Amino acid sequence: MMPFRDLQAQYRALRDPLEAAVVEVMRTGCYVGGPYVEELEERLAAFVGVRHCVTCASGTDALVLSLRAWDIGPGDAVFLPDFTFFATAEAVLTVGATPVLVDVDERTFNIDPQAAKDAVEAVIAEGRLVPKALIAVDLFGLPADYGSLRALCGQYGLRLLEDSAQGFGGAIGETRDGAFGDMAITSFFPSKPLGCMGDGGALFTNNDTWASLVRSMASHGAGTSKYDNVRLGMNSRLDAIQAAVLLVKLEALASEQAKSEQVASRYSEALRATSAELPFVPDGFTSAWAQYTVRLPEKLDRKALCRGLAAANVPVRLYYARPLHEQAALRHADCWHGATPVADRLARTVLSLPMGPYLTEEDQRQVVAAFAGILERGA
Ligand SMILES: *Cc1c(COP(=O)(O)O)cnc(C)c1O
Repeated sequence: MMPFRDLQAQYRALRDPLEAAVVEVMRTGCYVGGPYVEELEERLAAFVGVRHCVTCASGTDALVLSLRAWDIGPGDAVFLPDFTFFATAEAVLTVGATPVLVDVDERTFNIDPQAAKDAVEAVIAEGRLVPKALIAVDLFGLPADYGSLRALCGQYGLRLLEDSAQGFGGAIGETRDGAFGDMAITSFFPSKPLGCMGDGGALFTNNDTWASLVRSMASHGAGTSKYDNVRLGMNSRLDAIQAAVLLVKLEALASEQAKSEQVASRYSEALRATSAELPFVPDGFTSAWAQYTVRLPEKLDRKALCRGLAAANVPVRLYYARPLHEQAALRHADCWHGATPVADRLARTVLSLPMGPYLTEEDQRQVVAAFAGILERGA
């Protein structure tokens, strides 16, 4: 079976510089933080176009650190899409605040600004929680509707946190993903658009105070040194081997994303006549193509389709088969949500196809033939 996302092909393509970089780190004896991490932070901040990048141990930690830097905790409401990876909500609960799950846009899969506005109004009307922040997720690589979200956050005095775990390399016009929120986070989990060879994450901001606060909190609440502890923090740092790997992969990112763009256009061209609804990229938006996710007709038997594709050696994934409010961990938590019919419908009808810069043309043809063939026969 072809790989769903081919990390080994990426390794083969970048083997020489990757292996040289990792060996070099082993020789330095400097394994956590240090010059590779500093260089990476500078490069990433320049790439995104913001003043500060602070790396840490994972995207989830980056979310927690952002919320802590804003002093968000018990009694605070944080708005986020009901259709995203669990970590977005988990971070809110980790700091003791209440996630408010908001419905998403049918076509972009991203948080619906009007539904977010309604949710903020509902929380204010109820009077129990204080609306503090909104987390927008750049789902499957597509930036959220930051024009509307920024206006909404301005109107209600909310901080805007951009969860760009899947969006690194995406853009709206000339503005890169990671530059849209008051703070933004990304993840370097191996399968993300910019992945390392383990866990890692980063925060981006133009705000000097938040950047130094987050840097301190990621290193045991360090003051002037690691042994001067001025606040409660955590141990969440990127190690030098991952930084060295990321420096190599960052160099390759632009050409990789051009290839992903090509795969997406080929899919969209070849599948246009099928009954599947194809990914929608609004004018002026650039997707990082973390996933190529289609919507199937409601009446179609998705399980049978998946079985048919597996039989044709085409691996697929259901991102996400459940909206957040159906996750057991959230059902019993202090979690707020109204009706989210779009998230419910997406969870029932989405399907993600094999994707990535190293997906061969032959594999792309095989995906298209199997998928279109089964849809035509009306699985
Ligand atoms: C992967 C992901 C995260 C968490 O990142 P980790 O580095 O795995 O902790 C957060 N939000 C979204 C939307 C993600 O896809």
